[in-house]
Amino acid sequence: MTEQEKETRDKFLTEAMGECWHEVEVRVGLKNKLMCYKCGEHYAVTKEAFGNPDFSTWTGFGKLWEWFHQQPKSFKYLFILTFDTDIGTSVGKIFLSGHYFQSDFINPDNFANALYQFLQQEEP
Ligand SMILES: [Zn+2]
Repeated sequence: MTEQEKETRDKFLTEAMGECWHEVEVRVGLKNKLMCYKCGEHYAVTKEAFGNPDFSTWTGFGKLWEWFHQQPKSFKYLFILTFDTDIGTSVGKIFLSGHYFQSDFINPDNFANALYQFLQQEEP
């Protein structure tokens, strides 16, 4: 996965979480702050200061993980079933939220890629 593909994934996931993927073009005010043209939030200095999530990092993983666990049971169950290659066993899995969950997903890119794939399937 290229950096560009990762950014496309991270933007998709951020928006699926109901948050703004900040994009800047406008400079406002005397201090030349950067403003996101979508939500109007503004920050000083650089584009990086916008802090769009990077789901390849453990910080990003934590954000995604918390969001995932706030989703309805049916969502989590369907997600787990989608990737469960060995239903009925606990091999290679950890027990979470009443389900056996692939332990491979305790990895930032693996979890983000799986959710990305899953949520794309969900789209109409
Ligand atoms: Zn924004």
